[in-house]
Amino acid sequence: MTHPLIRRAVSALALSALALSAGAGLLAPQTAFAQDPVWDGNTVQMQSEKLADGVFAFYDSKAKELNAQGRAAATSGGLIVGTRGALLIDTMLNKRLNDQVQALGQQLGGKPLLYAVNTSSHGDHSFGNMYLPASTQVVQHSAARNYIDKHLADDKAFMLKNFGAGRGIEPIQARLGDVMVAPMSTVVLDLGGKLVHVIDFGFAQTGGDLWVWEPESKVMWSGNPVIASKPALPWLLDGHLVATLETLKRVHAFLPADARIVPGHGVPIARDEMLWHINYLAAVQKNVQAAVAKGLTLEQTVAQNPMPEFQGYALFAWVHPGLNIPAAYKDLIKK
Ligand SMILES: [Zn+2]
Repeated sequence: MTHPLIRRAVSALALSALALSAGAGLLAPQTAFAQDPVWDGNTVQMQSEKLADGVFAFYDSKAKELNAQGRAAATSGGLIVGTRGALLIDTMLNKRLNDQVQALGQQLGGKPLLYAVNTSSHGDHSFGNMYLPASTQVVQHSAARNYIDKHLADDKAFMLKNFGAGRGIEPIQARLGDVMVAPMSTVVLDLGGKLVHVIDFGFAQTGGDLWVWEPESKVMWSGNPVIASKPALPWLLDGHLVATLETLKRVHAFLPADARIVPGHGVPIARDEMLWHINYLAAVQKNVQAAVAKGLTLEQTVAQNPMPEFQGYALFAWVHPGLNIPAAYKDLIKK
């Protein structure tokens, strides 16, 4: 009945639920069982798509098809190229994928890589930092830098369980940010004829989430907070439904109507495709708030809110009742 990939992904996500319920963020319990990867860092092929002059999205060559099927694609990123040099968005899971995005950068003008931004501390967005040229400056949110500094071993253990041994995770060492983005602030980087805005809009998935905005082309990189097009749904891995919803609305209001978004795990989407994610979280908030007001337990709240209108995501059967409704309940019951 369930596709084996989905079962494996659900097992991987179940670890997050345990960690979430233990209040331990992304730390994986030691007793977790081995499993196959959610997607395979040894086989994914990255490709580039030109969005404007000097502005490129990078994504899994199967992302379009996987997104349409509501299945998990590998990490997306991109490159912005100015006259002085280039900026890479997300450094990928391992050396193999980092080599691929650096090679794409060479093919796209070969400018020196001045900066690399990590949209979050998650390993699939930051483990490749150690393979960048020594001269590249790594840009991180201060909370992401702090997390990687203190918890790399925990994050590696978690990523090994979700993405498998022998996928280039074992040798990873921390390479911390050189340029810090403070909470709720923006850092503007000059690539020569291209100004890139690296923005913290507030808690979006990890509390160390960065968005990368290139105003001329009106392209925004979101990282995981916008994971992919409909039917993909947000993952409230670290809780905070209300803050996440407010942040997504703030980003939507910031973006011009014709802006495009390069999501964390998919092909570029139009600005208003974010409304799927916003409407889902708003519906979760409304329904769970009503359940809390009626004094329902978590189990009753889950049972009474199947919300089939948001089905379609391959991970729905776990992400919605197993992660998002419990996270919303925990967030709203204390308010
Ligand atoms: Zn990711």
